[in-house]
Amino acid sequence: MSADTAPPHVLLLGGTTEGRRLAEALAGGPYRVTTSLAGRVARPVLPPGEVRIGGFGGAAGLAAWVRGHGVSAVVDATHPFAGRMSFNAAQGAADAGVPLLALRRPGWSAGPGDRWHRVPDLGAAADALPSLGSRVFLTTGRTGLAAFAGLDGLWFLVRSVDAPSPPVPGRLDVLLARGPFSLESERELLRAHRIDVLVTKDSGGSATAPKLVAAREAGIPVVVVDRPGVPVGVPLVESVGAAVGWLAEAVG
Ligand code: NAP
Repeated sequence: MSADTAPPHVLLLGGTTEGRRLAEALAGGPYRVTTSLAGRVARPVLPPGEVRIGGFGGAAGLAAWVRGHGVSAVVDATHPFAGRMSFNAAQGAADAGVPLLALRRPGWSAGPGDRWHRVPDLGAAADALPSLGSRVFLTTGRTGLAAFAGLDGLWFLVRSVDAPSPPVPGRLDVLLARGPFSLESERELLRAHRIDVLVTKDSGGSATAPKLVAAREAGIPVVVVDRPGVPVGVPLVESVGAAVGWLAEAVG
């Protein structure tokens, strides 16, 4: 196939449900889609299309990959908290001269009965904890636990897909699990571990939202870590359908 007749090549930076859904939506054409995964999870759920695994080597490496593989557009569907990758995507796509879109699921909002404390980062979450509770359900993932390592007076239940590595809090139990989680199981987990404060990132989506409902029902305060935000100038959509529409405009 000549370069003129080859389907436009879309690089999809994934690692999220939205990324996988977009790959599924694009599987019928008219694009060649390569999903890129960081390689953090031992057994990732693979999307349709081509898959590459591992870092690019910063923004320059991503730009080189884009040029070398004839990529026409990049969609950054990484997790709202994968801030470094999103920054690299903005820089790398600009350097390579290809359009870039950010796809992010909407964040969560507090409703009646919620006792939420919004904080800008994990360090601020750790600062807030001692005044809120002593038995913490920490659901911010296995990285970044160093921020909580100095809180010796508190006990932590850490839930993550893969096991965390040090530094971690001195008093902790680790629960290895991958969402989605049901409301019933979240209620039972809070009760069984006598949790009195929950920490979460504002990840959005439905797969891990039941813990927020369970916390509301139990009157438990929730420390919500705000998103770092999409790099300036990068267009943002919140649905797979909107991303498909953007691609049709940009390169279809
Ligand atoms: P990060 O801090 O923003 O990225 C660190 C480095 O990992 C990047 O500089 C890049 O390495 C590499 N990387 C990240 N995403 C990549 C991708 N899709 N393809 C190729 N390389 C990638 O990211 P993170 O927070 O460690 O998250 C890593 C991955 O896990 C992301 O793909 C994200 O979607 C997924 N994830 C993250 C979270 C979270 O809470 N942060 C939750 C669920 C899933 P190079 O500089 O070498 O290119």
